[in-house]
Amino acid sequence: MHQFDIEALTIIKFPDPRLRKPTRPIEVIDERVTRLAQRMLALMKEANGIGLAAPQVGLSWRMFVCNTTGEPGDAQVFVNPRLTNMVGSIESEEGCLSIPGVTVKVRRAAQVTLIATDLEGRLVERTVGDLLARCWQHEIDHLDGRLIIDRMSEADRIATRKALKQLEAGFARGRAAGRT
Ligand code: ZN
Repeated sequence: MHQFDIEALTIIKFPDPRLRKPTRPIEVIDERVTRLAQRMLALMKEANGIGLAAPQVGLSWRMFVCNTTGEPGDAQVFVNPRLTNMVGSIESEEGCLSIPGVTVKVRRAAQVTLIATDLEGRLVERTVGDLLARCWQHEIDHLDGRLIIDRMSEADRIATRKALKQLEAGFARGRAAGRT
């Protein structure tokens, strides 16, 4: 695997193409994976987010972190997660740390079951509803290269056009300046 400095990772923004790359399963949960999880939890907290997936720090690794309450004890790390048993359907507003300034309505399952591995290598299976179910579905979307703007209505498409254009222009400027 390529070398990189975990402490130097930051949250990347739309339309960075790394947000669109499908992720690969993590084969070994080693110290590097644990350090990445800690770094992602810190970045998420700093940005006042409730979830962060590895593609959002530029890595095609199949893992995400989340914490819907902000309490340290509620921090969760899921390695190689997948959803099963999606039940019901609810539409609600969502934002994304990689698409600042954009909020769109997204229809999601009301209840989901997630199967994953935790940092100790144990298999976990949990069924949740409400905000946690929404958060997990949002993060799994990231792991498949999908963003909330792929799921928005025509009305939201029109309402967010300007903000998305500005993000695109900002990304192009950063790239021209050699920042990405
Ligand atoms: Zn997101």
